Amino acid sequence: MTHLSERYARQARFHGIGADGQAELMTKRVLVVGLGALGAAVSDQLVRAGVGLVIVDRDYVEVTNLQRQTLYTEQDATAETPKAIAALERLRAINGDVEIDAHIADVSWDWLRPLPHVDLVLDATDNVETRLLLNDFALERGIPFLFASCVGAYGMNYTVLPGEAPCLRCLMRHLPLAGQTCATAGVVAPIVHHVASRQAVEALKYLTGRHEKLERRLLIEDLWENQSQRLDVERLVDAACPSCQQNEYPSLVSNRQQTALLCGRDVVQVRRSIEGLEPIANQLERADITMKKTPFTLEWRWRGHRMLLFKDGRVLVHGVNDPHVAVAMVDECLGA
Ligand SMILES: [Zn+2]
Repeated sequence: MTHLSERYARQARFHGIGADGQAELMTKRVLVVGLGALGAAVSDQLVRAGVGLVIVDRDYVEVTNLQRQTLYTEQDATAETPKAIAALERLRAINGDVEIDAHIADVSWDWLRPLPHVDLVLDATDNVETRLLLNDFALERGIPFLFASCVGAYGMNYTVLPGEAPCLRCLMRHLPLAGQTCATAGVVAPIVHHVASRQAVEALKYLTGRHEKLERRLLIEDLWENQSQRLDVERLVDAACPSCQQNEYPSLVSNRQQTALLCGRDVVQVRRSIEGLEPIANQLERADITMKKTPFTLEWRWRGHRMLLFKDGRVLVHGVNDPHVAVAMVDECLGA
């Protein structure tokens, strides 16, 4: 075990963690939802720190990701490797001692419900629906949820602690989420790393049992405008909040929506029930459709649009933003 003690020597030397804190960290498992810029940065820090991870993402690596998504390479973008797979390979190369469980999936209540024990939930998503789902999931399980968000050079962090209000649902109407996304307003890498570092340090505090050190305020930072705020939000508890006041968790419902518009891209996700990629490949072959096969996806073109099918039955239809059009195209290729 000498190499382990060497690997974590500097971290265990830090007074806030110590040898006992390090031993604690190595027994923990954290769920990271989303492996874009934020998920990549925070996963990198936690895996290096010796924390086990469950990572999940629904998308694949593209060249526009490389400016800020630090786990990926040009090769991943060229191969259109699913982010969960590319991240897993890279994280295993960084630290082979920690357990990493990787999933290519669109996170839903159906996906979360059977998930084995995790100690903490980290938000690295890009949409409000999934954040509220994670908020409710964490509250229901009695574990903290680390909300984080960034766009432009602007970022926010807030830690939802079970039994201590407010939760993210309480704060939603107060948060300055103006509907901007990284695709419309852009984003620079430094704010992502800033926000990811705050998430990572809160994770380290919580996982080592240093709960008195947790930041309970809402943190807002604009690195370009040199502005930062730390807001006491205790008084923003919504007395009618179903999630933290009534244990009702409105987001924990089975709703496998048939379609979803992917954040800020002209891509519609259409869900189909399939029995693996092979039968679909045979079907497309019979229809004389040329396709590209990887172990995780099937890709083909239809009416000039790129279609990408994942094993779990999701088809990404590129270059459209109307769900009806996307569904019709999937029907044409795979049958209604
Ligand atoms: Zn609440």
